[in-house]
Amino acid sequence: MFGKGTKLYSILRFKCPRCHEGDFFQGHAYNFSKMGKVKEYCPKCNLKYSIEPSFYYGSYYVTYALGCALFIAIWVLKLLLFPDLSPWGLLMTILISVMVLSPLIYALSKIVWGNFFFKYDKNILQKKNVNSQNDTTTKG
Ligand SMILES: [Zn+2]
Repeated sequence: MFGKGTKLYSILRFKCPRCHEGDFFQGHAYNFSKMGKVKEYCPKCNLKYSIEPSFYYGSYYVTYALGCALFIAIWVLKLLLFPDLSPWGLLMTILISVMVLSPLIYALSKIVWGNFFFKYDKNILQKKNVNSQNDTTTKG
């Protein structure tokens, strides 16, 4: 289910949606100088991550969905574990969770959005290697 070749592998490991090898982001989700910055190209298969200008604006829909899922998860946990928690306690729990998890949600939304548009190709690195070998033989 989480193996290479599945969308979840790319999403959870922040890897290129096409080759599942190259890194998708310039830095870690909690590295504040590079937070959520997508690389221009995959370092392994050379896939251009932004296929058009402002491509990742659409990921805000995914951010909204993930935010709602977080809210529902916290609300269900509150009902199960702390049924006597006041509405203010619930609100503070949600606000703190959103603040702490927002860099992760932001990164997740971008890679989910990328996975909507790029498909895994298990042979892409072999094709690239063959092409680069052909390039060197024709040049040299
Ligand atoms: Zn790649």
